[in-house]
Amino acid sequence: MSDRAQGSSRRALLTGIGAAAGALALPRRHAFSAPPVAAPPARRIGFALVGIGKLTQKQLIPALRATKVARLAALVSGHADKAKRVAAENGLAERNIYSYETFDRIADNPDVDVVYVVLPNSMHAEYSIRAARAGKHVYCEKPMAVTPAECEQMIAAATKAGRQLGIGYRLHFEPYNLELIRLTRARELGALKFIAATAGTIPADPKEWRLDKKLAGGGSMVDIGIYALQAVRHVAGEEPISVSARATVTDRTKFKDIDETLAFSMTFPSGVVASCVSTYAAHVSRVDVAADRGKFGLEPALYYHGIKGFRSDGKPFVFPDIDQFAAEMDDFAVCVRDGKPTRVPGEEGLRDVRIIDALYRSAATGRDVKLT
Ligand code: NAD
Repeated sequence: MSDRAQGSSRRALLTGIGAAAGALALPRRHAFSAPPVAAPPARRIGFALVGIGKLTQKQLIPALRATKVARLAALVSGHADKAKRVAAENGLAERNIYSYETFDRIADNPDVDVVYVVLPNSMHAEYSIRAARAGKHVYCEKPMAVTPAECEQMIAAATKAGRQLGIGYRLHFEPYNLELIRLTRARELGALKFIAATAGTIPADPKEWRLDKKLAGGGSMVDIGIYALQAVRHVAGEEPISVSARATVTDRTKFKDIDETLAFSMTFPSGVVASCVSTYAAHVSRVDVAADRGKFGLEPALYYHGIKGFRSDGKPFVFPDIDQFAAEMDDFAVCVRDGKPTRVPGEEGLRDVRIIDALYRSAATGRDVKLT
């Protein structure tokens, strides 16, 4: 690839996120920003959570009690009893509860500024597009959608509505992950040579939607391997030009038509390569960065709490353990309030979904897939 093409590949990664220089000449999205100043309740940005599953109940609602600019404003659910109970527990009026059928009426609710889509992956596009058409800003869980075409439709809907679209990539706000990128850019241990990343979890419930290709859009890769992909792309600071993947299944009852484990590699324009594993067979999460004067990394790399860093020169790699969900929602709330672009826009979600699509094509054909 020519230098010019390399340059445009790197620019593609850095644009769309308001890549203003921050501390240490890092793009803004790679800098750890202090929590915003608490806004008075009446001036907070209202979030409607669509889907009251595990992430909503265990992470997002508790996080919205810790946020300084975002607040819980509405719930959307197919289960009226659950929605009423959760609303009551959180002091929400019943008028701020919607079903999937009444969802579009959210357009008339001035309490709601942002619709946060926390549904099975194949439903992300529909509800994000409906939310944008209702005139709301949209925050959507990862993976952004199940096909690149759906991602493009979501971006088009938000653009047409003049609203922001953000993707729930919480690690863009997590200090250890940000430090990994800073260390690489600052070349503290020399020039980047090689990256290895592993991300895995074990789906607990054999009946859950994650194991149903129609609802999940794929297997471990779309759910957890996407974190390995994110880590590698952001440490590399450029986009892959070629990918290769092989899918394996050890439990054919549980994983009928989705990847249990996907071993994949990516080649970058600079010559840096990444070797990755995504799996539904083990709870694993690690990133190793090899530079020419040493190595550094994270393990665990992607959990909600307890992330740890290491570096071969023995220097400390210790940061505060933060509420990643409060940080991501407050950041998006500030972006909406101040009219600033989010560091995790729809274009970023689309890049991952395009690469995952290429990885699955490589696994299906047994061939490398070139990316342009
Ligand atoms: P979950 O199964 O706990 O919740 C899913 C919700 O969707 C439930 O409220 C369920 O009732 C509702 N739903 C509506 N239609 C459904 C259907 N046809 N089938 C199944 N459920 C249906 O899932 P979750 O773990 O909360 O995940 C939701 C989204 O959040 C997913 O996109 C997932 O990738 C994402 N997620 C992100 C993180 C993160 O760290 N950012 C962590 C977990 C989940």
